[in-house]
Amino acid sequence: MKLAFFGAEGKVGSALVPRLEAAGHEVRRIELGGEPDVSGCDAAVDFTAPEAAPQNVRAALEQGVSCVVGTTGWDPTELGAFAAEKALRLFVAPNFSIGAVLMMRFAREAAAHFPRAEIVELHNEAKKDAPSGTAKATAELIGGSPQVHSVRLPGLVAHHEVIFGGEGQLLTIRHDTTGRESFADGVLLALERLGDLPPGLTAGLDTLIS
Ligand code: NAP
Repeated sequence: MKLAFFGAEGKVGSALVPRLEAAGHEVRRIELGGEPDVSGCDAAVDFTAPEAAPQNVRAALEQGVSCVVGTTGWDPTELGAFAAEKALRLFVAPNFSIGAVLMMRFAREAAAHFPRAEIVELHNEAKKDAPSGTAKATAELIGGSPQVHSVRLPGLVAHHEVIFGGEGQLLTIRHDTTGRESFADGVLLALERLGDLPPGLTAGLDTLIS
């Protein structure tokens, strides 16, 4: 596919772009500033910042290009409706690691058997939003408004822990992202399936993994 990539120079972007190119995609790196030109692209990918992603996505949709977005900390509902109007797709996932998606699934299963849970999310100090999109999505999945603790320190990449407490027992479900290449398989999967999705917003990698 011909891809427009917003955020190619970022921490995630610089790990992802070589993987997308190695998989056979042609990547146009969209520079910051000015009106982005994504014309002729089959899809746009955004890993930027919560204040930048909505305008990037709008610009891509206005140019008739469907989007895959990993940027967290913004609400895609309105742009999902805009995409639907234009018969385009907007796929958004707070976490593109297959392991993290499985962690969320296992947490949902465990939640049925434990009265209480808390979530700890730990990320590099540069991460702008807190709590993480993955922690928020996990909290919603397991229900009961679990407390979410956010840690921001150098040396961390992305780590999530769901701790369930019961009578005389604890269950911890933890996922560690040790390298940003872990997001590539999920992004490649979303790009492969993008054209088969219904127009409008689809949220979560879980929807693509059986
Ligand atoms: P980062 O290192 O700050 O990179 C963001 C990049 O986007 C920077 O190069 C930045 O340029 C650029 N940028 C900002 N505004 C832009 C715009 N309007 N157009 C084009 N480029 C723009 O951040 P990161 O760690 O790569 O993370 C990016 C986002 O992805 C964050 O929201 C993070 O939470 C999210 N994330 C999602 C997942 C997932 O699996 N869904 C995984 C990890 C991270 P400047 O540096 O020049 O401002």
